[in-house]
Amino acid sequence: MIEDLTDEQLERYARHLVLPEIGDEGQEKLLAAKVLVIGAGGLGSPLLLYLAAAGVGRLGVVDDDAVDLSNLQRQVLHNTDSIGRHKVESAIQRLKQVNPEVEVTPHKGRLTPETVMEVIADYDLVCDGSDNFATRYLVNDACYLQGKTLVSAAIMRFDGQLSTFKAHARHDHEEAHPCYRCLFGEQPERDPKQSCADVGVLASLPGVMGSLQATEVIKELLEIGESMSGRLLLYDALSTTFRTIKAKPDPACPLCGSQPTITSIEPDFYRPEEAVCAT
Ligand code: ZN
Repeated sequence: MIEDLTDEQLERYARHLVLPEIGDEGQEKLLAAKVLVIGAGGLGSPLLLYLAAAGVGRLGVVDDDAVDLSNLQRQVLHNTDSIGRHKVESAIQRLKQVNPEVEVTPHKGRLTPETVMEVIADYDLVCDGSDNFATRYLVNDACYLQGKTLVSAAIMRFDGQLSTFKAHARHDHEEAHPCYRCLFGEQPERDPKQSCADVGVLASLPGVMGSLQATEVIKELLEIGESMSGRLLLYDALSTTFRTIKAKPDPACPLCGSQPTITSIEPDFYRPEEAVCAT
């Protein structure tokens, strides 16, 4: 297997190759992997940078926004020269500088019920770093329906949360692998005062959570360590505490429960909304 890697790759990924849990076989798995990252903002910045650096072979980037001066306090993928440019274009330029051999596919625009199934179909794994509940529920449902693993993180003020969802991997009577809906119930009504633009977010918080998200993506791709599926990680930056809560599937979940009512993506079901947290 090792002769499949070029001399440059042997050097670039040397610190992975010496890890028994990765090695040349694991690195080749990463190079062959296709990962979709939803949001090229606060969470997407460290997430995309580390996935590119790690040699994840193909990255898809979804975003509908342009770089704004107020993004630069935490969105380290972009720089001052990027202001006004589409975030997807700015992201591609930076990621190519980090690792030219990574193929980056742009998806300009927000994921919608009309587009989500087609967009995620091309990828092995999906990461959600979006800034609104409508996208979170839509992506959860689409990933479950297509049997894709979803690594999800969210941030606000000084708090972050992280989990992995792969309810499609559950077998009957097993109390494992809840989906996002199992944990959080129905899509909440939007509170107009609960956006990051209003309540704020610490500069380095998405750095912590996006890096953890990248770590979980790599673990899922390599099938190493313990998955975060069935566990919700809560980080409180002010007290510097990490708490892990165990989570079970909800038998009455409308998506992954025993009598599902969500069996396809119906556009009327998903309420569009403005950003809850500008990641
Ligand atoms: Zn569920």
